[in-house]
Amino acid sequence: MSRGDWHRYDAKTAVEQCQRLDVRELRLNSCDCINMTYSVHSRSGERRTIEENISVVWTPCHLGGKRSWWLCPNCGKRVAILYLRMNGYRCRTCNDLVYKSSQESRFDRHLRKKFKLCDKLGIGPVETPLFKPKHMHQKTFDRLCWQHQRAMGITVQHSLKVFELLKRS
Ligand SMILES: [Zn+2]
Repeated sequence: MSRGDWHRYDAKTAVEQCQRLDVRELRLNSCDCINMTYSVHSRSGERRTIEENISVVWTPCHLGGKRSWWLCPNCGKRVAILYLRMNGYRCRTCNDLVYKSSQESRFDRHLRKKFKLCDKLGIGPVETPLFKPKHMHQKTFDRLCWQHQRAMGITVQHSLKVFELLKRS
C-alpha cells in the first residue's frame, strides 16, 4: 500500500479480523454450558491454554421455538457471537473490537457521502451537475448542487494536502 492509503484499520482490531464463535452455528438443542479448551498465542509467540465454561441461555422466539445466546464470560452480557483474542472468547465490547466501517477515516466517510450525492444527482463522481433530474424538485436540486459544490471543495483540499506530503518526502 502506498502512502496515499488513507485507511486506518490498524487503529483498533476489527471484528472481521478475529476468529468468531456464533452460537447459532453450533445448532445446539439444549444445553446451558459449554466446556471449551483452546489455546491463544500472544504477539511474542507465547502460547497459553485456556479452559473455561461458557454459559448458554435460551429465549423464546416470536414464532415458537427458542434461540440460544452466549453469556459473555467476562461481563455476562447476552450475545450471539464471541470473538477470540488474547484473553479468550469474549463479547465484542470486552475484546474492544470495532466494525471496520466505524474505523473509516474522515476522508473515506466524506468520499462515500460524495458518491451518494452524485448518485442522487445522476452524475459521475467527477462530473458537475448541470441539469436537474426530471422528477426532482428545483429546491432539492439547488440544495444538492450546493452540497456537491462544497463536497468537491473538501475533496480538492484533501488531495492537495496529500500531494504536499508526497512532495516533501
Ligand atoms: Zn463481555
